[in-house]
Amino acid sequence: MRLRFAPSPTGYLHVGGARTAVFNWLIARNGGGTFVLRVEDTDRARSSDEHTQVILDGLTWLGVDWDEGPFFQSEGVERHRADAYRLLEEGKAYRDFSDSEAVRAEAQERGMHPSRVAREKMQELGAEETERRAEAGEPFAIRLLVPDGETVFHDLVHGEMHFGNEDIDDLVILRSDGTPTYNLAVVSDDAEMRITHVLRGDDHLSNTPKQVLLYRALGYSEPVFAHVPLILGADGKKLSKRHGATAVGDYSKEGILPEAMMNFLALLGWSPGDDREFMTRDELIEAFSTDRLLKSASVFDTDKLAWLNGRHLAEHPDAELVAHVRGILDEEESFRPELLGDTEWIGELLEVIKPRARTLDDLADQARPFLCDELHFESKAVAKHWEKDPTSAIDRLDALLDAFDGISWTREDLETALRTRAAAMDVSAGKLIHPLRVSLTGNMASPGIFDVLALLGRERSRNRMEDGVERIRRR
Ligand code: GLU
Repeated sequence: MRLRFAPSPTGYLHVGGARTAVFNWLIARNGGGTFVLRVEDTDRARSSDEHTQVILDGLTWLGVDWDEGPFFQSEGVERHRADAYRLLEEGKAYRDFSDSEAVRAEAQERGMHPSRVAREKMQELGAEETERRAEAGEPFAIRLLVPDGETVFHDLVHGEMHFGNEDIDDLVILRSDGTPTYNLAVVSDDAEMRITHVLRGDDHLSNTPKQVLLYRALGYSEPVFAHVPLILGADGKKLSKRHGATAVGDYSKEGILPEAMMNFLALLGWSPGDDREFMTRDELIEAFSTDRLLKSASVFDTDKLAWLNGRHLAEHPDAELVAHVRGILDEEESFRPELLGDTEWIGELLEVIKPRARTLDDLADQARPFLCDELHFESKAVAKHWEKDPTSAIDRLDALLDAFDGISWTREDLETALRTRAAAMDVSAGKLIHPLRVSLTGNMASPGIFDVLALLGRERSRNRMEDGVERIRRR
């Protein structure tokens, strides 16, 4: 099997393109095939090196590696032309000298497709006159002479597809300036690269009968086609910029892990056939097959992406997570990078905060109170648990300072001490825990309070509690 991803470098690697790349790559990796990368840069005006680079970087970030390429379509222009001229010589294509403006106007007037008008003109002109004009150096485009009948091909998603040839216009394959059109270039390249499977978005489905006609006219063996349905936004409309980030690079900036993105993309139009959703890269490669490609459009559900990301985060190697967290917290003045050196402590911290984080940014937020000395106090937390009843908040923090005095600093002993003290004060444990949490983390929510106390250790915890009492007094 030989598969390819053939992006046009006219924009960023968007979600739809990335999904196409991932599907082709997974099929290749599942079946021991070859994955080829071809940059379709024949539209010189709209293509740029910058876009090419962004696309390659996006693929690399996703972990989609290629076995051959990147090839550039523009390098094959001579071959594309040779293919067009061969069809001309074999009588399967014809020269079109007509002024395209005039033809378009006439076509509109007569309610026909421009290519039918062009064909008529070619027939009126006759072979001899055509030769004479070409030899005289008059510019012409080359059009495929679409035969009568029907074009039928098999699509792995849609089954057998039938197109009446009367609905297919005599497509231009070589423009009068000598540049090949997309359909010719794609067929010529896929044949040259011996591509066996062409999987791409549904938006290409209308091109496929034209390409099939070209394969047959050129005598090249046809690949198997698969057209995967569009990706929709949550509102049921085609996914676009209106739905927020659609470039893959934006997600990497938002703290989405590449393996989560690949997992998510793989499920947009494919299913493993059981109820699995969280899947590692290896599991995806193992399970992916073309017979489970889905026919119906898939919805880009950002909540699901966040959920999958959280799951992948939990499985991600600690060392890499630490590097990400460090990158984010490095900007904080009171960040204490030396704490990252204590691998046992960091391991414990990650165990506690990973289940609470969905993105790398979340993870850094969760880690902040443990790795930075300066707390960011959440105003809602301060208002509710300190300011509403400051006297009680101070009493309760003082009571806890007393209850924790001299005990061994373990989760169990801390819990026993807190619960005993709450009972003695005739309040619920929560009444002690809430002001304590604000003083230790600054936040309304945090990991379990005994985990927080244990991770911060005796000295840092007591300092923060004392500082909390001070802060409430000063308010
Ligand atoms: N270059 C085309 C695109 O980016 C893809 C061509 C194909 O997959 O056949 O839409």
